Amino acid sequence: MAVKTEFDLKKTRNIGIAAHIDAGKTTITERILYYTGRIHKIGEVHEGAATMDWMEQERERGITITSAVTTAFWKDHRINIIDTPGHVDFTIEVERSMRVLDGAVAVFDASQGVEPQSETVWRQAEKYRVPRIAFANKMDKTGADILLVLNSMKQRLGARPVLMQWPMGQEDEFRGIIDLVSMKAYTYGNDLGTDIQEIEIPAEYQEVAAEWHDKLVEAAADLDEDVMMKYLEGEEVTAEELKSAFRKGTISLDVTPVFLGSALKNKGVQLLLDAVVQYLPSPLDVPPIKGATPDGGEVERTPDADGPLAALAFKIMADPYVGRLTFVRVYSGTLKAGSYVYNSTKGKKERVGRLLRMHANHREEVEELLAGDLGAVVGLKDTVTGDTLVGDGDDPIVLESIDIPEPVISVAIEPKTKADQEKLAMALSRLAEEDPTFRVHTDPESGQTIISGMGELHLEIIVDRLKREFKVDANVGQPQVAYRETITRMVDVEGKFVRQSGGRGQYGHVKIKAEPLPRGGGFEFVNAIVGGVIPKEFIPAVQ
Ligand code: GDP
Repeated sequence: MAVKTEFDLKKTRNIGIAAHIDAGKTTITERILYYTGRIHKIGEVHEGAATMDWMEQERERGITITSAVTTAFWKDHRINIIDTPGHVDFTIEVERSMRVLDGAVAVFDASQGVEPQSETVWRQAEKYRVPRIAFANKMDKTGADILLVLNSMKQRLGARPVLMQWPMGQEDEFRGIIDLVSMKAYTYGNDLGTDIQEIEIPAEYQEVAAEWHDKLVEAAADLDEDVMMKYLEGEEVTAEELKSAFRKGTISLDVTPVFLGSALKNKGVQLLLDAVVQYLPSPLDVPPIKGATPDGGEVERTPDADGPLAALAFKIMADPYVGRLTFVRVYSGTLKAGSYVYNSTKGKKERVGRLLRMHANHREEVEELLAGDLGAVVGLKDTVTGDTLVGDGDDPIVLESIDIPEPVISVAIEPKTKADQEKLAMALSRLAEEDPTFRVHTDPESGQTIISGMGELHLEIIVDRLKREFKVDANVGQPQVAYRETITRMVDVEGKFVRQSGGRGQYGHVKIKAEPLPRGGGFEFVNAIVGGVIPKEFIPAVQ
């Protein structure tokens, strides 16, 4: 039975868990789903159909490349968790998640601090102005040091982190967490998260807790005038006042509250969920989304369920049960099951079939998705990632979309068995439809099928998926003409083959990217990636 879904938007959080691969995102997500009561035992998240990491190869490789949404409930709030991949090859996947979420938890390995890939994810969150809280995970691990995390966030990310908690013990001594806002301590009787005691701060931690509490109050005073007044007058600032100052400061991107724990040992995850609800924005707290009218005018859409429909498709997935799923975020209006909508990016009418909300171990059919919410649509045929859906063709606004980068590497692909040629072509076009950074074309000169993507791992995973999901074994190799090796330097060309210096261009069917050489020496060609034959004009200039 489809159910109507009215939910207080103030109590909705659309969040992502952004992390360097191996920082513990899967473990944290698993624990969150466990504590929110949606899965029955730890580990189950890996087994059901509607899981975060449901593709076999992802599990084997320990990386997450899909970007589905899972809904969980915590203390009267609905938390939509938007999956963000940790691997740098899937930058586009991270970007498109960043585009549709309202807040994020940035996870760091407490024994490593900020790592290169955490930096990449951080920059993307900055670009989309996503409010963040940080979680220093693995506090139980050898080398864990909360100050390392704090300092590397300052130094490497230029962030303004504020410690909200202090650890009782680190590494294998890690046994509890002091909440520096409420000045209470939490101890854990076991590693299962089932025995948590709230206690007074033990004597040996009182001094360090008071010191960090003072720093926290100072930081809150910088964020809020009322706190500042009280602080200057030496008055007690209440926990509620501190929380509200940090909520404001987090949403305005002025501060990043830092929490800590060990997902593996079930310490700190419930407190992290409290922090998600407390400090990260609801859809009502973020600026309205911008869009463009057909004549180039700018419009804004606010999260009003009674307003005109505006939704953005951000992920296409082939689902083993219902076929093609289009994940959307509704920014304004109401998306109804069984209705007709207008894809204003394509200029096409589309019919919405069923609407689904994904939970950790079941899917729920809903009648409608209201402004501020996310879910999956069954039945859309032509809508792809980045497309806007509106109510009808009279209001064809197009929402600010996602920057889709050009692929950077290409390989030739062929089936191991000739008879699989057609099956391969079909599978490749399905995969290209799902993933806007994956391209397929046939080289007109050599007749080879060339696939392009964001990195070696990206293409490796495509080949893996061909085998698993489409039962096609394929070989890949260098295209017959590999320009990347052939064209290394071009001189005496005044940029006439490229649209602009340092840009990309098309010469015949040869796609090129040129960068000016120092001292006006012409252009250096890099990443000339598309197969074909080098036009004669190029050859004399190639050295
Ligand atoms: P992901 O790549 O970010 O999804 O990371 P995973 O959740 O798969 O974790 C990577 C590895 O770190 C696994 O071996 C986990 O068991 C381990 N791990 C995760 N959380 C913790 C933790 O809190 N403490 C310790 N010591 N190990 C952890």
